[in-house]
Amino acid sequence: MQIGRIMIVEDDPHTVRYIKKILVDYGYTLTSVASLSEEAIKNATRDRPDLILMDIMLDGEIDGIETARRINERLRVPILYLTAYSDDTLLAKARETLPYGYIIKPFTAIDLHAAILMALYKAKDELLKRSDAEVDENTVKLRKANSLLEELSAHKSRMLSSMSHELRTPLNAIIGYTDLLRTEFYGSVNEKQMNYLETINESGKHLLSLISDLLDISRIDAGVSAIELAQISIRDFITTVTGMFAVQIAQKKIRVSTHVHPSIDFVISDRKVLRQILINLLSNAIKFSEEDSDIEITVTPSEESSVKFEVRDYGIGIKEEDRDKIFSEFYQVDRVRDSELGGTGIGLALTSRLVKSLDGEIGVVSETQKGSAFWVVLPQEPGQDVEVGLDQSVMISARALGNRILVADDNESNLKLIVDILTVHGHEILIAKNGEEVIEKAITDNPELILIDLRMPVMSGLEATKKLRSIPEFKKIPIIALTASADDESIKNCMEAGCTDHIAKPVKIATLVNILDRYLT
Ligand code: ADP
Repeated sequence: MQIGRIMIVEDDPHTVRYIKKILVDYGYTLTSVASLSEEAIKNATRDRPDLILMDIMLDGEIDGIETARRINERLRVPILYLTAYSDDTLLAKARETLPYGYIIKPFTAIDLHAAILMALYKAKDELLKRSDAEVDENTVKLRKANSLLEELSAHKSRMLSSMSHELRTPLNAIIGYTDLLRTEFYGSVNEKQMNYLETINESGKHLLSLISDLLDISRIDAGVSAIELAQISIRDFITTVTGMFAVQIAQKKIRVSTHVHPSIDFVISDRKVLRQILINLLSNAIKFSEEDSDIEITVTPSEESSVKFEVRDYGIGIKEEDRDKIFSEFYQVDRVRDSELGGTGIGLALTSRLVKSLDGEIGVVSETQKGSAFWVVLPQEPGQDVEVGLDQSVMISARALGNRILVADDNESNLKLIVDILTVHGHEILIAKNGEEVIEKAITDNPELILIDLRMPVMSGLEATKKLRSIPEFKKIPIIALTASADDESIKNCMEAGCTDHIAKPVKIATLVNILDRYLT
């Protein structure tokens, strides 16, 4: 068993031989033997022994104590002195330099072994104490830094929140008064003035939403942001976002084309967050493009049911060394140029935070003078058990691949919502506005499931359900009641009338889809 790597610094060959034997007998490893100071320093630095046995009175100009000091300037190694004298002043000086003790010659084997062991234990103990102290010191430093960071972050969030309040108030006035002027209540405005009013109004609204987003960012940082997932019709969505840049696009004669992979009609995401991400990327693409050039927005499926958005421009591009930095706050590649173009250097920092809040990833592929392609990959199932609300811009598709469903509701907006959801899921929809129409359509069009509002004019949903159940063909058809209140009484009523199940209004996509899954084959 090796219990320590020992180096000897001793000029007397007999003593060296004696020590060597003791070391071998007790299982130590000898790293080297030096008889002069210089050689000792060189060997120690090279071999890094666990302990040096150092003769105090060395041949040559430099004694053992000075040699020990020089070695310790280079590396921390315990040194056990060997001395033929019990000269107190000399030993005191030695102890001051290195406090691992000494052993007076002549010594027995067991004396040396004990002294070496003591020195090694002491060294180990000190090492442990030192690292404990370092750990303690670092912990204190970290705690301090942490609380400072927390304080700064809270301060930043407070500042953002009060700033956005201050900004919102005058903006609301701008939006409100332009709205009022547009109604022409206080006198007519000509066409040009109307156009200007609309531009002021639109810009005000955009600014307002930017401010809200800034506030969202501070909430993201504080970890309290609420992501609201919705099913977003992606083509419509991109058209709307691109439309916001109509003026800049026209001024620069830029052609923006959108390529959405045929398999992607919808994405599940937070509409506001996704909109801001695309706005930021598109605004940069326009800003850093030459006149009369192209911008392509592409949406493709990515790995593990993710969706990849890409905004590609053919503009000035970004040098390799800047590509990571541009995602940091306030970083601009060329401060003068980029500020002149109307930038603050915060857009991409916000964008990457927004992307992270959706559990996504962002990156850029670029070549100077050839252009840049910023990409964002968003997972389609961030979190679990997400109940998504219907995006209002959902397109009613012409496909009708699924089941034939009769929807009865006299309220237009409720009806539209349900029809939208069903259409998105590829069902064929029949519509009725009252109980009588339900029965007529059921008989003529033979639906596979009926969604029926209970309160309708002419004939109520309950009445219509009872009547349908009395017709043999409709004994088994699933009839799902749409109830405004989910209290026991109304549920009991609709079950007694013959309804199969019920859904509470306002209807949620997930609930409706679950019901359809349950009752449609
Ligand atoms: P800014 O408000 O200055 O546009 P961003 O954070 O959005 O701030 O972008 C940071 C910097 O990254 C920009 O100042 C610009 O130098 C560079 N950059 C961003 N997008 C592009 C792009 N599409 N083409 C070239 N450079 C870009």
